[in-house]
Amino acid sequence: KHYHAEADTDFVLPANQEWARNIVKKWKFTKDTVHAITPIVIGGLDITENRIVVDAIDKSLLKEGVLAGRFANANAEDIKKAVEVAKADVDGWRSLTHAQRQAALKLVAIKVRDRRGDLIGVAAAEVGKVFTETDVEVSEAVDFLEFYPYSTQYFEKYENLEFSGRGVGVVIPPWNFPVAIPLGGVASALAAGNTVIIKPASSAALTAYEMCKCFWDAGISKNVLQFVPCAGALAGEHLIANKDVDFVILTGGEDTAKTMLKTRPDLFLTAETGGKDATIVTNMADREQAVKNVCQSAFANSGQKCSATSLLVLEEEVYNDEGFKKALIDTASSMSVGSVWDFKNRIGTLANKVSGNLEKALNTLEKNESWLLAPSYAQDNEYMLKPAIKWGVSEGSFIHKNELFGPVLAVIKANNLEHAVKIVNDTGYGLTSGIESLDEREVTYWKENLKAGNLYINRGTTGAIVLRQPFGGMGKSAIGAGRKVGIFNYITQFVEFKEKSAPK
Ligand code: GLU
Repeated sequence: KHYHAEADTDFVLPANQEWARNIVKKWKFTKDTVHAITPIVIGGLDITENRIVVDAIDKSLLKEGVLAGRFANANAEDIKKAVEVAKADVDGWRSLTHAQRQAALKLVAIKVRDRRGDLIGVAAAEVGKVFTETDVEVSEAVDFLEFYPYSTQYFEKYENLEFSGRGVGVVIPPWNFPVAIPLGGVASALAAGNTVIIKPASSAALTAYEMCKCFWDAGISKNVLQFVPCAGALAGEHLIANKDVDFVILTGGEDTAKTMLKTRPDLFLTAETGGKDATIVTNMADREQAVKNVCQSAFANSGQKCSATSLLVLEEEVYNDEGFKKALIDTASSMSVGSVWDFKNRIGTLANKVSGNLEKALNTLEKNESWLLAPSYAQDNEYMLKPAIKWGVSEGSFIHKNELFGPVLAVIKANNLEHAVKIVNDTGYGLTSGIESLDEREVTYWKENLKAGNLYINRGTTGAIVLRQPFGGMGKSAIGAGRKVGIFNYITQFVEFKEKSAPK
């Protein structure tokens, strides 16, 4: 059987709209809702008692004071225990045959498909993602579950080669893709024959729990996949530093990755560490299409994607084209920002309060910079930041070089394509990159000289699909092994190979 990518939901169909309204009914809480505390799950036990409890706020309903839920945080003892259970492999997951593990993960894929609505609902409540944005994540999650076990046939054909898992894997995902990224880590590590501990992002722990439930309810035991939300510092000290942890799959900051390697120089780490992604629009572009692709890539999910276009590099003629400018403003400002529970909104809320690089970029204008579209908030809600566009950005400026993770697009003028490519490469990151040009020669030049893992031609820079666009970068975007996800060799990172009849 061949591998097929899972289809997304068509929200235009009346039956699917009805389905979506039911998600709202189930997941849009009120301030009177009493939430059970989401437990830590270690060694088959659900633990909540005497632990720090964290409240997750539904930012769409900030003024009403509504919670998306509450979850317990693990302490140092819990973390230690989790690693012990994972190492002991209580239920013998690691000694199953690959076919048995593949069959088990197939059942998880069925669960994830069935629970598409719940995963969309919890991510809307907790992370502020609109339904369509999580919907594509659920499809990607199903793809990971089906593809990773299937991908071992790439090395299974070497008859003399035996493989087994490395042992204990830790998955540390981000909050911006709260379903697909944690699930991809877990699915690949399990498929490779490891036991797994997931330490969810604090802003997306409830969503990670719903995701884990799909594994447990499909028959994967709570000894094989353990759920350990905890403070970052504790994870560093007690999880990463624990010598019984054999590898870590991280999507997060460059600093986090570097700190991990400092703590454990021997650690096998694969890390995707962000991007400062650009789209170049040359004089030879279809400008209408360019505006559409750029706005979607820059502002969907409030720009909180490692793959988001946050630099727009325009060749001089496009830069001076007043029509292009106007189209950019109109398209960006027509992407309505607001409650995730109201389907007319294309953009929901920020996952966290504005801070760090984003705050700095919003509050400062460097030399020659001006706002083409000034930042503002919808409904007086500090999480509902509307798309903003900074014009006249110079090479070497703060916004040229730093990842913001927000809906702010910086526009830089380039003298020609060669100059444009230099501007993009100078960010030092290399995750995704886009070009808008109908000229084959320009595209060829760009492909040969642009340093990024995912190159997109006349298409947005977000929304990679398993196997079709294996996702991952170079430069500051990848640390450690840093191999692309969604491709055949991804899971080879988490296995050890042995030759069956190795000469003595
Ligand atoms: N895979 C996602 C995409 O292609 C991006 C994931 C990320 O932000 O890390 O848009």
